[in-house]
Amino acid sequence: MAVSAGGATKPTATPASPASPPTVTLAVDATAAPRKIFHATLKIPAAPGDLTLYYPKWIPGEHAPDGPVIDLAGLKFFAAGKTLKWRRDLLDGFTLHVEVPTGVSEISAELDFLSPATFEGGFSAGSSATDKLAIISWNQVLLYPKGFKSDDINYSASLKLPEGWKFGTPLPVIGQSGNEIKFATVSLTTLVDSPVITGEFLKVVPLASNPVTEMDIAADSAAALEAPPEVWDHYRSLVDQAQKLFGAHHYRDYHFLYTLSDHVAHFGLEHHESDDSRVGERSLVDDGARKMSASLLPHEYVHSWNGKFRRPADLATPDYQQPMQDDLLWVYEGLTNYLGFVLTARSGLLTPDQDRDDLALTAASLDHTPGREWRNLQDTADAAPQLYFSSRSWNSWRRSTDFYDEDTLNWLWADVIIRQQTNGAKTLDDFCHLFHGAPSTAPMVKPYTFDDVVNTLNQVAAYDWRSFWTERLTNHGPGAPLGGIAGSGWKVVYDETPSAMESGFMGARNFVDATYSLGLILNDDGSIGDTIEGMPAALAGIGPGMKLVAVNGRRFSGEVLRDALKSAKTGSAPIELLVENTDYYKTYKIDYRGGEKYPHLVRDDSKPDLLSEILKAK
Ligand SMILES: [Zn+2]
Repeated sequence: MAVSAGGATKPTATPASPASPPTVTLAVDATAAPRKIFHATLKIPAAPGDLTLYYPKWIPGEHAPDGPVIDLAGLKFFAAGKTLKWRRDLLDGFTLHVEVPTGVSEISAELDFLSPATFEGGFSAGSSATDKLAIISWNQVLLYPKGFKSDDINYSASLKLPEGWKFGTPLPVIGQSGNEIKFATVSLTTLVDSPVITGEFLKVVPLASNPVTEMDIAADSAAALEAPPEVWDHYRSLVDQAQKLFGAHHYRDYHFLYTLSDHVAHFGLEHHESDDSRVGERSLVDDGARKMSASLLPHEYVHSWNGKFRRPADLATPDYQQPMQDDLLWVYEGLTNYLGFVLTARSGLLTPDQDRDDLALTAASLDHTPGREWRNLQDTADAAPQLYFSSRSWNSWRRSTDFYDEDTLNWLWADVIIRQQTNGAKTLDDFCHLFHGAPSTAPMVKPYTFDDVVNTLNQVAAYDWRSFWTERLTNHGPGAPLGGIAGSGWKVVYDETPSAMESGFMGARNFVDATYSLGLILNDDGSIGDTIEGMPAALAGIGPGMKLVAVNGRRFSGEVLRDALKSAKTGSAPIELLVENTDYYKTYKIDYRGGEKYPHLVRDDSKPDLLSEILKAK
């Protein structure tokens, strides 16, 4: 693989390390998956002296040092019939030192991985197993020796599943006996990049044959797998549209590993030849829920090209201990988010109307992010290892990992500029062909820098791209970057009726959206998730963590609040909010007459409709 990065771990053998990269044998027993405990046994070549082993710390695609070392238990080392002494490194909790006795050339290790026993959100270290299914992330059940790149160490892995459970994975299988699967020997890089989905109810849906592309879907019930036939057609179309967008691919075959459960963490994680995406149990069979998660698989699939194949040079680290630098996530995640948004419409997973409603929500939310006054977009990427784990309270003032959504707007803007500069002859699709395209290859990493992005954009359309991106990354607003929406012939407006997409999100995520009226984001039970600095609720003294109990003397509900906003438009009395805060109750009076406000995109007929062109299937 073409991974290169400055400051790589030097492959010089220490006295205790074998001279050439070892092959480690790894046997994982997942038969107790419903108990949420996974047992692993490793055989690791070693030489007498100190053997330094690592538990993976920086997890690819999670952009953070969030390897779940706290859930590593039952750790024991043996050689020549004896238990070996070990100690954790005092400067790094992910590093272990094992005393290897003389005359020993291999040690064995035993460990348990304790998957969260009660519900935990987050990424792959969050809840990953139920009574009926599990996702096995190999980085959670292994150790690796110091001194080698993950490309150079080989693993020969096997996996034992609960009786009768089926599985899906991009990892090549060389044999199966009963419920035990033996995998081909692969590099540590490939192993960690190739999770396994397994379950009692598992459906394989072929999407394309050359190269083989399929969905491997595990659900908590058989009924959750019975989506209407057009859903599979949309995913087939996604594969077709992605090939047309990029003009080549960089995997041998591709598996959408899709988990449908209300008891696992919900997120998407990209790999070269698969994605580990997890949504609610009814997300394929329920019309509304399907819309809410429609853009997830397009986003993760795009990552096979943008993020895995083309990767920022300082994210292409030689192993899992070297810190990742997240400054180019505005390309890695931002461009992926834009292309995922485009492919969601081109594949038919959302209609253009629905996709535009989604874009309106993105634009409105970022246009009500006063935190940009102190934190620019670049800093949301630079601080990503921390921001991924920040509380949702104070989101609008702290800012979050905004490089996803804000760069959807910025890359739309770039797409519009290319179309304008070339009178429609070129588009961002041409950039993708140059940057991510031919020739098709097996998984490999081609690192890039800021300059490479600017130079490739200039190959497509001459423009001062360096200044464009520098301004986009360092400005402090005040508003969101809406130049792409305006240039594509649309504008953001607010009215009193939420779009179907917004109603869907409110229903699915149990919140009430008074963001654009009072500057108040509420959960269904009245607890206040966030307030927007400078808007009526915050100015009145209300903040996140408080709870709205009553509106104008009546017990709070979403409808009661909406009615109060409506009647205040024409009335003269202030809206009275009874709020509980740390056991104390207080009434806040808000003199607000603006009514309800929900974002939409409407056509600006003075300009050509480039957005509809962009969203059209190729
Ligand atoms: Zn992503």
